[in-house]
Amino acid sequence: MPKKKPYTFYWCKDCEVDFIIMKDIKRPCCPVCADGIYVQSVRDIWLERPFNYKRPWTDDEDEILLIGAERGMTHAEIGKEINRTGKAVTRRLSQLRRSLDEKNLC
Ligand SMILES: [Zn+2]
Repeated sequence: MPKKKPYTFYWCKDCEVDFIIMKDIKRPCCPVCADGIYVQSVRDIWLERPFNYKRPWTDDEDEILLIGAERGMTHAEIGKEINRTGKAVTRRLSQLRRSLDEKNLC
């Protein structure tokens, strides 16, 4: 019986995205930030406790995020608008800002 291909679930703490990569890859990179710094194996997390599965950010949510930040709303307040935690807002905001900064460099 052929076994399932060895894929591993990874999670980028920074972007709050998960992705699957072939197990052979030694240094998994996040498809969103193209970095491996915050990437960790999901299995390790799941062993500890049930993982709160987050949905990916939409363009609309990003817009609300940026507008809210501009208006001086707290991250918790912005999070309420889009049904996310303040922590998730903080992470996404820094992620967005960094990708804006890097746009000219890439
Ligand atoms: Zn990432």
